[in-house]
Amino acid sequence: MADFLESLASKNPNEKEFLQAATEFYESIKPVLDKNPKYRKEKILERISEPERVIMFRVPWTNDKGEIQVNRGFRIEMNSAIGPYKGGLRFHPSVNLSILKFLAFEQVFKNSLTGLPMGGGKGGSDFDPKGKSDSEVMRFCQSFMSELYRHIGPNTDVPAGDIGVGGREIGFLFGQYKRLKNEFTGVLTGKGLNWGGSLIRPEATGYGAVYFASEMMEHSGDTIKGKTCLVSGSGNVAQYAIEKLIQIGAKVVTASDSNGYIFDEEGINLEKLEYIMELKNEKRGRISEYASKFKNAVYTETPAGEKHNPLWSHKADCAFPCATQNEINPADATNLVKGGVKLVAEGANMPCTNEAIEILHANKVLYAPGKASNAGGVATSGLEMSQNSIRMNWTRDEVDAHLKDIMKNIHHTCLSMSAVYGQPGNYQLGANIGGFIKVADAMIDQGLV
Ligand code: NAP
Repeated sequence: MADFLESLASKNPNEKEFLQAATEFYESIKPVLDKNPKYRKEKILERISEPERVIMFRVPWTNDKGEIQVNRGFRIEMNSAIGPYKGGLRFHPSVNLSILKFLAFEQVFKNSLTGLPMGGGKGGSDFDPKGKSDSEVMRFCQSFMSELYRHIGPNTDVPAGDIGVGGREIGFLFGQYKRLKNEFTGVLTGKGLNWGGSLIRPEATGYGAVYFASEMMEHSGDTIKGKTCLVSGSGNVAQYAIEKLIQIGAKVVTASDSNGYIFDEEGINLEKLEYIMELKNEKRGRISEYASKFKNAVYTETPAGEKHNPLWSHKADCAFPCATQNEINPADATNLVKGGVKLVAEGANMPCTNEAIEILHANKVLYAPGKASNAGGVATSGLEMSQNSIRMNWTRDEVDAHLKDIMKNIHHTCLSMSAVYGQPGNYQLGANIGGFIKVADAMIDQGLV
């Protein structure tokens, strides 16, 4: 394994996020490789680490002053062994090849865990929607899709949203795709309800993470009801994780954005959450404004480059990191343990560093890897694709019931795989092995392609 990881690092220099995700994954699936020599003989690790295709393109557009802007667009078509490429688009200034390859890599195994026929992909741009007018965002999305459209399709590659890509952006992207192709198909998920979207899709990632965490707590003989929870982020995933936690009787005391976080000792209730949703989704404001509106809440800035994030130092029972990668480092993990946290469920992708995960495991904290706990979003995207194919819309209750079932099944897969491979209760190992076997076996069945 060390030799393989060394050669992966030398082949992908400067891709630290991709190497971090790959190292975490490969080190944990060692038991399945030792038990099944066919995976090494068929060079599955070497093949699965290489994207099937990487598309990089220029995205020129004009701002409201008529000035020319140029961004970089990407689509990583990582693996199509079990279905069309599927995964979100991220618009954020930090986007680069390494971040998108880590996300695409994780997506392959996450999609496999859902049990739905979806391969893995990811894409996006270094475009920053923050501070841009709606017209600027539209012109950017139209230019982005003018290249991307030729590479995607409902049976080929089906993108969705991620950081910086919500309902507004999906609308502009879909409009341009339809105009260029002259066809109305389910080529994107996360669409508006009036034009092919699915009920519960906006809620699905956050709700799914809470359903998964509830399963974990119940399995350990406890419940989330009445527990104090820390949530980071205030975007799509965080908002609906908070909503579901409130609905099931937990108390959420934090929310954040990239500038800082609020601590509300009384707990965020549904009325306060409605304020956050309006603030973030419509006014596109900052989370600091919450503390001006609700005087009991305290706002703390979290400057970039700090050694730890004080959000994770508050006393709590459960933590739901729902903002971005590497937001829980070893110092934060240590603080979570000191604060009494019993469960960490990842709403974001790779929010815990590999060293932080080790600290959580060493302290017997229940740890849910994002591949498993945030799979509800893509699973419901899969349900949106099914509804588009049969040209039917399911009710809110029907989709929610499917989502709950899928999260329950993923929980079961993680537990049973962790038991079969000798580390019962290790959700990280269970998720990685459960996701891997299906994709690896499909690749072997399909020959050397
Ligand atoms: P979103 O709606 O754009 O919200 C992102 C949130 O994270 C915002 O509050 C944002 O604050 C914060 N954030 C972004 N970059 C940050 C940074 N460098 N430091 C601190 N905070 C930062 O995105 P989302 O869809 O909720 O996605 C959040 C996470 O969940 C990502 O890791 C994503 O890959 C993962 N995920 C999303 C889905 C989905 O269905 N959307 C599914 C599975 C996993 P600002 O407003 O200040 O930027």
